[in-house]
Amino acid sequence: MLKEVVDVLVIGAGPSGCVSASHLHNNGVKVKMVEKQKFPRLVVGESLIPRVMDHFDEAGLFQSLDAMNFEKKLGARFIRGNEICVFDFSDKYGQGWDWTWQVPRGDFDNTMAKECINKGIDLEFESEVISVEFEGRNSKTVVKDKDGNLKEIHAKFIIDSSGYGRVLPRLLDLDTPSHLDPHSSIFVHVDDINRPEGEEGTMISFDILETEVWLWVIPFSNGKTSLGVVGPTTFINSLSENKDNREALQNAINLSDYYIKRFKGVEFSFDPVKLENYSRSVKRMYGDGFALTGNSSEFLDPVFSSGVCFATESGILAAKLYLKEQNGENVDWETEFTGYMRRGIGVFTTYVKEWYTGNLQTLFFHQPENPDVKKKICAVLAGYVWDETNPFVKKHDNVIKNMAYMINQEKEMAANKS
Ligand code: FAD
Repeated sequence: MLKEVVDVLVIGAGPSGCVSASHLHNNGVKVKMVEKQKFPRLVVGESLIPRVMDHFDEAGLFQSLDAMNFEKKLGARFIRGNEICVFDFSDKYGQGWDWTWQVPRGDFDNTMAKECINKGIDLEFESEVISVEFEGRNSKTVVKDKDGNLKEIHAKFIIDSSGYGRVLPRLLDLDTPSHLDPHSSIFVHVDDINRPEGEEGTMISFDILETEVWLWVIPFSNGKTSLGVVGPTTFINSLSENKDNREALQNAINLSDYYIKRFKGVEFSFDPVKLENYSRSVKRMYGDGFALTGNSSEFLDPVFSSGVCFATESGILAAKLYLKEQNGENVDWETEFTGYMRRGIGVFTTYVKEWYTGNLQTLFFHQPENPDVKKKICAVLAGYVWDETNPFVKKHDNVIKNMAYMINQEKEMAANKS
């Protein structure tokens, strides 16, 4: 069997793996990337949030992405019947980027992977990790290429960015059920032939069909638009009696008063893809000689587009902590990696849960708007979930619940008066 010796093996060339590998390479580390699939490949996760721009910038990937002219995302719109709530990232609490992109991930990830190769990173496509063995911190990983050839990669450290492949969680029995309710999704890309001119045509929107069911509309700069329905698994399964994804998604689109005209009968670019019970969690996020990043560790829910952001946040952080150790400094992975990531994940977990209870929707659509509250929630939606000067970060546990309660009480009192 062929043998290779590297400093760090990065498994998976999605956003998490690319950001991590690029940062390591830029700092003189000998990195090897292995990716199971041929790129470009289809993957979901097309609405980004501004915090990711910090990561692409720091990892030296921003310029190649910027050159692709992906659709700019300046905010997000939530629709509930006749009510509309628009967040504008330039009008948020605190510092940070006020824009990002909405992207077909096939092209987006391919751009990053190509840029990694251009930098000189050894990235092998169609090369699948099939086993990993640890001897202390050192590891031997066996990968299989598309022709069935095996190779053994010796590494001082592994960054597992394998997404739903979840290589190390599977091999080391680290999977644990998510504490979120089982939700599923069906999505597709369409030829957006009825796209209106201007902002209406290009704005990312989330249309609430029922409290727990929503439709995403993500227009791309290539003329296509991503459409997806999300909801409790039982609801998603009930959308088509024959479990036909095409029929199910069409039925969901038909439920949208706002979008039915624009998308009725449009051509689907591929057979709609169903992602069942998509949330994931792990018992621990690191171990001797490895770190889990991105979806290989934790995935919550698509509703606030936090997936890629956590993938790149954890990817670049794992790379930095590896470098710190190589500099001879002590790293407390529990605090500096797990603790840090869990703080951000904790904030978004509250927002996801409070979305599905309806409490967050109560805040979003309350009139008159409270500009101060809106700015602070906007900073969270932009991904700045480690800024504890923001009370909507620091007190996430109860601030939404309490405000929704007050709004509902006020409404009840007003109703009783009239
Ligand atoms: P991935 O992008 O999945 O990359 C992992 C890579 O590892 C893959 O290319 C895979 O081929 C490779 N791999 C797997 N196994 C192996 C192996 N054995 N050997 C070698 N390589 C391997 N996030 C957002 O930010 N915005 C959204 O709008 C959004 N919408 C979503 C909608 C739904 C329905 C779902 C389920 C998720 C959504 N997400 C969204 C989440 C987003 O898809 C992920 O969080 C993100 O893609 C994770 O990036 P990653 O780099 O960790 O993994």
